[in-house]
Amino acid sequence: MKRSSWRSFSLVAGICFLAAYGAQAACPSVQDKVCTLTNYREGHLPGTLYSSPTCTSAADDDNKRAVQRAFLIAHEKVQAELCSLKKIFVIAGNESWGLWENVASDEWPTDGELPGAYIALSRQVFRQNYDLADQEDDLTRRALKNTASAGQYEHVLTLPNNPPPTLGNDLAILAAMMHELGHIIWHKNKSEILQLNCFQTNFIATSWNTDGLGESLRSTWTDVTEAKNARHRSGGLEHPHKQNVSREELYQIYGSSNGRDGFATAAGGVTPEEDFVESFKISTLRRAQASTIFALSIAIKRPGDTDLVRDLLSTRAPAVESKLFCVDSWHTNLPLFVFR
Ligand SMILES: [Zn+2]
Repeated sequence: MKRSSWRSFSLVAGICFLAAYGAQAACPSVQDKVCTLTNYREGHLPGTLYSSPTCTSAADDDNKRAVQRAFLIAHEKVQAELCSLKKIFVIAGNESWGLWENVASDEWPTDGELPGAYIALSRQVFRQNYDLADQEDDLTRRALKNTASAGQYEHVLTLPNNPPPTLGNDLAILAAMMHELGHIIWHKNKSEILQLNCFQTNFIATSWNTDGLGESLRSTWTDVTEAKNARHRSGGLEHPHKQNVSREELYQIYGSSNGRDGFATAAGGVTPEEDFVESFKISTLRRAQASTIFALSIAIKRPGDTDLVRDLLSTRAPAVESKLFCVDSWHTNLPLFVFR
């Protein structure tokens, strides 16, 4: 984790930020949805009995307030999605998850409500001083299955001078929720997404080898450590799970010189679903109400040489931009991408 500050931002950014916090939300608060969940077995498998997750106990007020702050800096379309969640859980362990109750997969709710969606957040994202750079470091480490050596890369979060003290952590919580919301939107709209021209062209034809891709596309539950037979098109990095990924290969995943294989993040390079999810997450961070005052990049370390740096929120490789363009229309309800 590394945090630096933008010297050029001062009072003006502070005023913008306060103005952003005052924007209209779809519901005033999601705090009442936050509770703790223990001993729930996520990842319902076809043929097994499904039961809806329900609150085990009340969440700490600090956790509720942190989720609420993340909610307040999200784009209003995202806020509407968070308002429609049944619950936002705080769970033990270091892996957050999202769940959409799909009755076509026999996920009939057992909580006395209509089918809906849940997000479960790992307790670690609420740690003091855990910021968006830490969140991205952890996700990237899991996506690379620890094959890249420690210290090979580092995310850098740039905040204005004297930021609100919790802003870095609020952004970490927002990013964790956006990754899981991306999975929920994917599963809820999968048949429509797979038929979208911009998904077929800008995602599949650009980055993925279609041989054997069905296993990954059929999957009802995915973890960023599972490749599910998904392979990249030739030209860039073969796959983030490749053993001993080199610094140059890691850099290439964010956009190779021949314009292929561009992924919004290394985690997006694991499967087409994660490709969609991470593009969605980056698109929502770009549209966050505080987006004008923070920057996020990955610095790939080269001992004795300059770092290879990719800005994750602005200047992007053309292949990545075309994915973000496809997903971004979700926010504005453009006909390209009108989803539930
Ligand atoms: Zn994921």
